[in-house]
This record gives sequence, C-alpha cells and structure tokens, in this order.
Amino acid sequence: MAEIRIQNLNKAFAEFTAVKDSSFVVNDGEFFCLLGPSGCGKTTTLRMIAGLELPTSGQIFLGDEDVTFKRASARDIAFVFQMFALYPHMSVRQNIAFPLVSQGMPRVEIAERVAQAANTLHISHLLNMSVSGLTSGDRQRVALGRAIVRQPMAFMMDEPLGALDAEFRELMCQELRALHDRLHATTVYVTHDQREAMSMADKIAIMNQGVIEQLGAPQEIYERPASVFVADFMGSPSMNFIPTHTALARGATSIQLGSVAVDMPAVCDDVSQRQLLYGVRPEHIRLASDAPLRAEVVGVEYLGNCQVITLNTALNCVVRAKVDVDIRAVRGDQVGLELDASEMTLFDQASGRAIRTARDDLAVEAIGTRKAAHG
Ligand code: ATP
Repeated sequence: MAEIRIQNLNKAFAEFTAVKDSSFVVNDGEFFCLLGPSGCGKTTTLRMIAGLELPTSGQIFLGDEDVTFKRASARDIAFVFQMFALYPHMSVRQNIAFPLVSQGMPRVEIAERVAQAANTLHISHLLNMSVSGLTSGDRQRVALGRAIVRQPMAFMMDEPLGALDAEFRELMCQELRALHDRLHATTVYVTHDQREAMSMADKIAIMNQGVIEQLGAPQEIYERPASVFVADFMGSPSMNFIPTHTALARGATSIQLGSVAVDMPAVCDDVSQRQLLYGVRPEHIRLASDAPLRAEVVGVEYLGNCQVITLNTALNCVVRAKVDVDIRAVRGDQVGLELDASEMTLFDQASGRAIRTARDDLAVEAIGTRKAAHG
C-alpha cells in the first residue's frame, strides 16, 4: 500500500476548469472521501489519480514515484465503478480471476487469490454461479472482489454504492469500512452522499465547483465548518443560518440577533460593520417558553428517535430544531428559542467563510483530546 500525494492539480476541458489547484495527501492505509455535489470535480480528480485522465497541470505521487504522466495500467491502482461492469457470460469465479488471468499469473496462484478474496467478501458460496442471477449487493461484492484480488497499491472507488437501494447501501457502507479495516488499503472514495462520507471516511475533502473547500476528519468538518457551503452540505437537516448586520470588536462575547443579544464565544478578529450569518445546527436549538428569541411552530416532523420542528422566527427567517420526542410542539405554538452558544459558528455573508472564534480553538483541543483517547 502507498501514500498518495496530489500537488496543485488542475484540469481544464477547453474553457472550463473542472479541478482548480487541488492539493492533498492520502496517507498510507487511509480511507479518503472526495465529497461534493454533482459536477464539482470529484470523478475528474479520481480519474487523474488513476491515470484515466491527464492533468492540465500539477503532480501526482504514488508512494515516492511521480506517476503524473504514467499510463493507468502502469499505476498499480484498482478502480471500482458505480456500474459494476461485470462480464455477464462469466461465473463469479471467472469475473474475480479476470485481472489476474490478463496478467498471465500462474493458475495455482490465481485459484488461491480468488479463494482468499471470496472469503474476505463472504461470497465463497457464489463462486460457481453466473453473475447475471445475483442481487445488486452481491454483484457489488464481486466487483470489489475483482479489485482486491489484484492486491494493488491503492483503490479508487467512484460512487460504488450509487446503484444500490437505501437499505443495501447502508449495509454495504458497513461492509466496505469493515473490509478496509481488514485490508488497510489506501482508498480514495467518491460520493455526493455526506452520510456515506461521514460514516466511512478517515478524512474528507469537500469540493465545490472544482475547489477543495475543506479537508479534515468527519467530526472536525462537521463541528468546525470552514464555510457556509460546507456547513450547509454536512448534516441533515443542515445548519441554520440567521442573518444579522453588525460590527463586533475583538473579544466580543455576544451578538445582536434583531433586538435580542445572544451569547457567543469571543471573536478572535475585529469584524467591522458587515452582513454576518449566525450558524447553528438544529440539535443545538432548544425550545424554551420564556426565551426572548421568539418563533412560531410551522411544522413538526416525527422521526421516531427525535422530531424536527420548523420555526418561523421573529427575525424573519425559518430555522429547524432537532429535539427529543417528548417535547410537545404543535403547529401555531408561540415558543422561545435558546441557542447553544458553545456550538455556534459565525460566517461572513459576502465571502461565505467562517469567522474565527474562541470556540474553534476549544474545538481543536477537544477533537485532539478525543482522538488521543480513542488511541
Ligand atoms: P458527478 O457525480 O455528477 O459525476 P463530479 O463531481 O464527479 O459529479 P465530474 O464528473 O468530475 O464531477 O465533472 C466536473 C465537471 O467537469 C462537470 O461540469 C463535467 O460536465 C465536466 N467534465 C467532466 N468530464 C468532461 C469532459 N470529458 N469534457 C468536458 N467536460 C467534462
């Protein structure tokens, strides 16, 4: 297995730049997700790493080797697509063995490798079956088998679960992560589904219009989003943004939302008079009858283990709160809202970037402590 290093990678298709100055490192044995909406440049980045697309500029290293202009077949990288691309006239065994047969590997070794891959994926009992009769989940396992049997330096996976229904997808997420924990294979995984990325990745690069907006561990990105785009994309329901126009001096510990002063961690910079967004996640809003920030309940969504309450605030914006099921809320209720100051994020509306507060420094320490505790 190997580390993958990407340096200042750009890809233009005629006038259109699909990937803009991307730099990141996928550590040896890491499960790395490229996450973002459709068209943001994930697949193009993956295809450049695999050698299926040439960059316009920049460099790609696999281990110590500069592979930027090396052919795909010379890169020792295995690719798993959303479309399983299996050979329908072949058995499961023949499909898994195919890349090794193409390499001219001796038969005995092929048999051993195929048996080992099938065992890892729990599909030994399917080896003699035709792939055409398999469920989509088993077809995906066969496609994975064909990738792992090569024992490559790295895996590239492009929305490999995209064709599965929701139930299978959840199961395959768990299986893929368990497989990764067994093989410790350096993996780059493309998805537009933030839940998939959050549940599987060691590290996420979240992309927007060809640019990496933020790089980090899932928890780090969720708790300290670098921009409105990231905060909005990660989490379901997504973060609430309350607009406000104000100036904040360095060290200020409250912010004016309409006529109500709300606590916040000390800002680390001077924020001159400008449009800001007070970002708060739904799970950090509490309903409190006597709180001065007023709102009307306009929707209640019961989700079994929690409920999502939609509220029309006196600040002329709608927010959503995720609360316990035993909180009684009915459409039309007038309520007060308490915002958890320790969990808020402040954004500059014009640039969309987060403004640093004391909370960010505390969060870095907390995440560091939690990582250390988990060993
Ligand atoms: P999706 O999940 O929809 O594939 P993505 O994030 O993987 O999205 P890419 O496939 O990398 O996005 O495409 C990024 C942009 O580059 C898109 O606007 C796409 O239309 C464009 N693009 C990709 N390949 C080509 C090509 N060969 N020629 C021209 N434009 C292309």
